[in-house]
Amino acid sequence: GPGFETHDYDVVVIGAGGAGLRAAIAAHDAGARVAIVCKSLLGKAHTVMAEGGAAAAMGNLWPDDNWKVHFRDTMRGGKMLNNWRMAQVHAQEAPDRVLELEEWGALFDRTPDGLISQRDFGGHRYARLAHVGDRTGLEMIRTLQQRAVALGIDVFMEFTVTELCKADDRIVGAVGYWRETGRFVVFNAPSVVLATGGIGRSFQVTSNSWEYTGDGHALAMRAGASLINMEFVQFHPTGMVWPMSVRGLLVTESVRGDGGILKNSDGERFMFNYIPDFFKAETADSVEEADGWYEDKKNNRRPPELLPRDEVARAINSEVKAGRGTEHGGVYLDIASRRDPEFIRRRLPSMYHQFKELAGVDITQEAMEIGPTCHYVMGGVEVDPDTQQSSVDGLYAAGEVSGGMHGSNRLGGNSLSDLLVFGRRAGECAAENAAKHSNERAAVPDSTATAAADAALAPFAEEGGENPYTIQKDLQDVMHRLVGIIRKREELVTSLTELEELKARAEHLSVEGNRQYNPGWHLAIDLANMLIVSECVATAALEREESRGGHTREDFPMASDEWAQINLVLTYDGESVGLARQPLPVMPDDLKELFD
Ligand code: FAD
Repeated sequence: GPGFETHDYDVVVIGAGGAGLRAAIAAHDAGARVAIVCKSLLGKAHTVMAEGGAAAAMGNLWPDDNWKVHFRDTMRGGKMLNNWRMAQVHAQEAPDRVLELEEWGALFDRTPDGLISQRDFGGHRYARLAHVGDRTGLEMIRTLQQRAVALGIDVFMEFTVTELCKADDRIVGAVGYWRETGRFVVFNAPSVVLATGGIGRSFQVTSNSWEYTGDGHALAMRAGASLINMEFVQFHPTGMVWPMSVRGLLVTESVRGDGGILKNSDGERFMFNYIPDFFKAETADSVEEADGWYEDKKNNRRPPELLPRDEVARAINSEVKAGRGTEHGGVYLDIASRRDPEFIRRRLPSMYHQFKELAGVDITQEAMEIGPTCHYVMGGVEVDPDTQQSSVDGLYAAGEVSGGMHGSNRLGGNSLSDLLVFGRRAGECAAENAAKHSNERAAVPDSTATAAADAALAPFAEEGGENPYTIQKDLQDVMHRLVGIIRKREELVTSLTELEELKARAEHLSVEGNRQYNPGWHLAIDLANMLIVSECVATAALEREESRGGHTREDFPMASDEWAQINLVLTYDGESVGLARQPLPVMPDDLKELFD
């Protein structure tokens, strides 16, 4: 572009979490010249925060476990709205991806026999999370990052991509800027992989890091790709509720997997009151059976604390609403009275320190206070289940930014495995696509690059406009109040009106100072993305008149057979979000048999 720093690659991967790093390695191995771009420092992506583990039916600890059981659990957890083909590929390939990670140096926890240890998590029939204490994401990123760097893959860090560029209806590159200097950069590339993660920062209480502003979702839409399942946002049942400064911070599900139970302020272990019919056959209905399960899984059913996350989050919400909450508006999560201190410190070292340092609570002695927190978005870029390509030629998506795999609710541990399985596939296919275009390289047109930079710089020219921090705060308030864990028609209608008002206000943002490391300006750019994505969530939530997984409608409390066959697809015309119903892909008969 005119005066822009410019780079040519075969594949540009946006995002350096598990999905991005795995995609970059795969694209490199397939012969492509690859760049990884990320907003934070390399090694700081959201994936490092993942605690519990990566789900993979290794079949080592539980010989009866295999991909079919994992596939079935995943589909049931997602209330059958998952793209069946993605769920199948995921369950089939996850064990190889975990073993490969081990080959590359990841040090998973072991069984006494030296096999990769497997941890229990909600919704999984067998213990099947490969883990490293409660710091699995950190080990995963460390391993992938070391490999990517050793392979010589170029990394652009502290760098934000603001626009994808197309010519002749296909991807030709991307435009972004160095966060430190504010200087713009053009990438020419026939393939771009989005691996930008989630959207949690649009909500008031969230476990997500500052990077989660839905950039990839919005970039894809502006480039003409579609999103699906955006009404399905996962509220994790256990986030910290105090101190206020860390409200929403995650308390890993491993606490329950390792024996922790939920109690209300009357001291009642209340989850037995919330077992839905759908899961009755596989859930313990007495304390004795539930407690017996940890040692003897053959003869006991799972404790109700390990129901899928949507069920547990709604139960906690109901207890608090009924006046049986704790001092700070949560419920108790108790492992202190259930396991000895040495076990707790060994299995849950991060949790031990997190509570000790932030709340002054010793979790080996006292119960934790917890409540639901916005954690994960099931919805995302609509992709081909085998190649991860979006509806735009040359644009791929993998990891949390992509949609379909998890249906209406993701099982714990299924994200880390998703990143590896689909990151690899996206990288390979992106490299293949680049090779196809090797003789007719298109470049980002100068006018496109200039327009993208001008749009990003607009808030500097506006005098006396709105403060981006104020709008972000108002947006989080709207999403929390009207599009949160329990929804209803009137509130969703109001949310869309309020979002329109916020969008209008956001047309006139002002930022102070200059382009050098200017957080207010960075937020101004992110805000546009947060607003589009929030509109998608609210629009789809209003349309889907049923309750399923991460989407609960007070006015339509049951799942409906009709809606069980429908995906909602969202597109963007440059001004507002459009919505269409699309029939669910039909599962082949040999897989259907698994559900009788
Ligand atoms: P990320 O790891 O978030 O990476 C996104 C990358 O994109 C970052 O590098 C970011 O800088 C970059 N990026 C974003 N926008 C831009 C832009 N505009 N320009 C340039 N770069 C950009 N899942 C499990 O399976 N098991 C667990 O135990 C588990 N524990 C979790 C614990 C916590 C506290 C949280 C919050 C989540 C947990 N999850 C877990 C979910 C899981 O961690 C995430 O879904 C997953 O890490 C997402 O990975 P990703 O590769 O898609 O994105």
